[in-house]
Amino acid sequence: MAMTSLFVLPDKAQAQVDTQAEDRSQTAKQRRQDPSNLTELRKEAEQAAKKLEDATKALEKRQATAKAARDQLTTKLRLLREAELQLGRIRQPVSELAELLYEQPVGADGVVPFLSGDADTDMLPAMGSVNYMLSVRQQAVERTSALAQQTEILAGEAQELRAGNLLAEAQLAAEVDLLRKQSDKIVKSLTAALVKLGIKIDKVGRAALGCNPLRAATAGNYPNGLIPRAMLCPLQQKGHSLRADATIAFVSLNEAYKQTFGRPICVTDAYRNLTEQQSIYYRRPGFAAVPGRSNHGLGLAVDLCGGVERFRSAEFNWMEKNGKRYGWFHPDWAYSSPFEPWHWEYDPKMDKLP
Ligand SMILES: [Zn+2]
Repeated sequence: MAMTSLFVLPDKAQAQVDTQAEDRSQTAKQRRQDPSNLTELRKEAEQAAKKLEDATKALEKRQATAKAARDQLTTKLRLLREAELQLGRIRQPVSELAELLYEQPVGADGVVPFLSGDADTDMLPAMGSVNYMLSVRQQAVERTSALAQQTEILAGEAQELRAGNLLAEAQLAAEVDLLRKQSDKIVKSLTAALVKLGIKIDKVGRAALGCNPLRAATAGNYPNGLIPRAMLCPLQQKGHSLRADATIAFVSLNEAYKQTFGRPICVTDAYRNLTEQQSIYYRRPGFAAVPGRSNHGLGLAVDLCGGVERFRSAEFNWMEKNGKRYGWFHPDWAYSSPFEPWHWEYDPKMDKLP
């Protein structure tokens, strides 16, 4: 009895066999190759991330433009106030003098006594001064009222600009918020799909964080071999991790591989931190890349076993033919110098090709 149980296929494998027997249609075939719509989810997540990034950029740009416009208005208003004050200072003595003249009682001859003094020679220049003062005063009054009008217009403009910007910013912020929620939702479905396919997510959710494809770019900011563990997403193959986008693409590739060979891809090595890179380099000189230079240190390369490591084996040929669809390829150098049929790399740009 104990013997027979050894030959019972695990549920998953049994289900797979059943599915193969039942479904022959094209859509079923596609579904089997990508059982949880992983590729679709991944593309959706990337698109959502791009939309979110664009909207955030638009909001930031809007905020910057609004700030520049506000600063410009503030400067204009300050200059106007300064001009007003200056004008007030000029106007004051002119105005006082002119008013002093007006206050002089007019004599019977209709001439202001102050102006009809004994010295007739002073008369004309004095009259000229009065006229001049009056005209300066008039000009000052006109300029002041023009300035006041301009100030009012600008203040109104500032108010309108503020209201308009607040509205636009609120709309953009709401849009960003919505896009963030959508993106979070997609990442959640993606994580659920990965868990379903055997990716272990730890209790504190660190691995889930690392499996967020939106973090792939952030992981790319770390130096080779120094990506924090929480930024890496584990593979279905125990003990191995890669950058989130590379992992998700590898899971899809692995599912397709399983459909053909009935077993998962065998992985010897994936992400390698700097210490591991150094250790391999010194133990097996010429075998591994110079420490700090390997794509293993970027979480974008794997070394495979289970047949792929043998050049022109069925597994190798399958990988060569199908890998690119998932962004996984055998780099040119690995065909000859050094000859490393087991070494495969991920290129997110290739993965984005239709
Ligand atoms: Zn390698």
